[in-house]
Amino acid sequence: MTSDAACTHAYLKKTFDKFEMPDEMRQLISAPFRIIIVELPLRRDDGSLKVFRGFRVQHNNARGPFKGGLRYHPDVTLEHFMELAQLMTWKTAVADLPLGGGKGGIDCDPKELSASEVETLTKRFARRLSPVVGPDQDIPAPDMGTSEQEMAWFYAAYSSVMGDAPGVVTGKPIELGGSKGRTEATGRGVSLVAGWAASSIGTELRGARVAVQGFGNVGSYAAAFLSQAGARIVAVSDAAGTIYNENGLDVNQLIEDVHGDTCRPTLVQHSRAEGDRIDRDSLLSMDVDVLIPAAIENAITSENVKYVQAKMIVEAANGPITYEADQVLLARGIPVVPDILANAGGVTVSYLEWVQNRERYPWSLERVRERSETVLHRAWETMYRKSRNEGYTYREAAYATAIERVERAITLRGF
Ligand code: NAD
Repeated sequence: MTSDAACTHAYLKKTFDKFEMPDEMRQLISAPFRIIIVELPLRRDDGSLKVFRGFRVQHNNARGPFKGGLRYHPDVTLEHFMELAQLMTWKTAVADLPLGGGKGGIDCDPKELSASEVETLTKRFARRLSPVVGPDQDIPAPDMGTSEQEMAWFYAAYSSVMGDAPGVVTGKPIELGGSKGRTEATGRGVSLVAGWAASSIGTELRGARVAVQGFGNVGSYAAAFLSQAGARIVAVSDAAGTIYNENGLDVNQLIEDVHGDTCRPTLVQHSRAEGDRIDRDSLLSMDVDVLIPAAIENAITSENVKYVQAKMIVEAANGPITYEADQVLLARGIPVVPDILANAGGVTVSYLEWVQNRERYPWSLERVRERSETVLHRAWETMYRKSRNEGYTYREAAYATAIERVERAITLRGF
């Protein structure tokens, strides 16, 4: 599970070297501010006792409270959380949000636990973390294996100790202070960024042929917004296969079939949408204008990169392209919009949720959409200009922008 983060390290080292960053600052930027590991005993429904471990890595808060998800997965490791927490520092900095980076979770398999067991574990975790998290300290959010329900439990437990504070977590249910537009936010951001990126290489989204790998939260909303913007979604895939239609897939039908019944998700291949059912990974080698990997880490590797024919790639997933594959794409002149900017729509709306919680005033969907677009567009423009003016790739420009901002904040504060 370390690949995306290991990849981030390679990108970071390259940027540090390019900047000739002094060793002292490298050390300051690389080391986490604080690591918390807590023991979480759970009396299972069958009467047995199981002790889990809860982690929270707080990487950097020079620009604002730590921000990042809580992951529940049996294979989580401290090393991986350390790297993912750092990734969040760069993501919030590239979007210029007044936040830092953090990540954490529990080494449990939520599918093996009952709802009441997950509730107990989450509430215990929240109470143990309560001295070091909070709206002004560290603001968790959902990640792999967690959802708005876990955030509701976390909020409730934290507030029972510290007083009511909806801003302690984001990604909450709307009824408890969640933001309108959060569910769609990452996919919508991907579609906006893809539009600006297409214009930058002289293409239009309208009529562009797009392939989307992964049809979960990010992929399905990205496909829906891109389709609304006039793009032709020729292929989408999930873990089981690809559906392809040269004339453009009916994305609304796909969404209705795949997500309509959340208790029993349907595979894209079983959707009523018209199209050929083909091999899952052939999507990656399609001759399309825009390829959007929105599923997993390391989807494009040194093995399969030679088959990629897309004119441009927008990284909707975290770390979907290995460092080696990225070098090949660079040599072939295929632009890549990096994950830290392309999928920053999610953390941007999380930030707006936190703002609404602080104001105790919920915004309309229109306002959330307008504000998040402004934030992302500014981030895109800054990265694009830097890339043009200084001869950086988009990825180098995004990392350079983020690192400069964090470095400046550290220097201004002193230590
Ligand atoms: P999800 O679990 O909702 O969806 C994942 C999708 O990918 C599913 O359709 C699954 O079937 C498919 N998939 C899995 N393996 C595949 C494979 N080998 N080939 C093709 N499809 C495959 O997850 P999500 O929330 O949409 O997240 C997707 C990615 O985006 C992850 O890397 C995640 O870390 C990243 N991300 C998500 C958010 C967010 O707000 N959800 C924000 C930032 C980054």
